[in-house]
Amino acid sequence: MTLKYCQGPDCHQYTTQDRLKGTKPNKTFQTRRRSSLNYGEFCDTRCQHDWFLKYGTMAVDHFGRLKEVKHLREENAWVKDYNWDRGYENRTYVYVNAITKEQRPLTKEQFNDNNYTLNER
Ligand SMILES: [Zn+2]
Repeated sequence: MTLKYCQGPDCHQYTTQDRLKGTKPNKTFQTRRRSSLNYGEFCDTRCQHDWFLKYGTMAVDHFGRLKEVKHLREENAWVKDYNWDRGYENRTYVYVNAITKEQRPLTKEQFNDNNYTLNER
């Protein structure tokens, strides 16, 4: 099995016991490696954050910097929601437009269907 290395630039500097490897007198704190990492390329959110602080600007410049405001318009502002009855026993499902506040009824099946949407694609 090949192990993945945490890509956090300072992973080896966090002195947890699981990072301490080797035998005396050659013990070192080492970058974590796992068969699968819980945070994509990173062992934890601290290493993910470290990476972003060091490389985030370069990554944004590489993949394309946003240069104008983006708009969520009325035709794409439908959000699935549900309401409870007075006794909090029965849910009713609705689509709510975040801009107009219009509500449209949804079935439970439509609510749970990730492909069902009123938003334009
Ligand atoms: Zn790490």
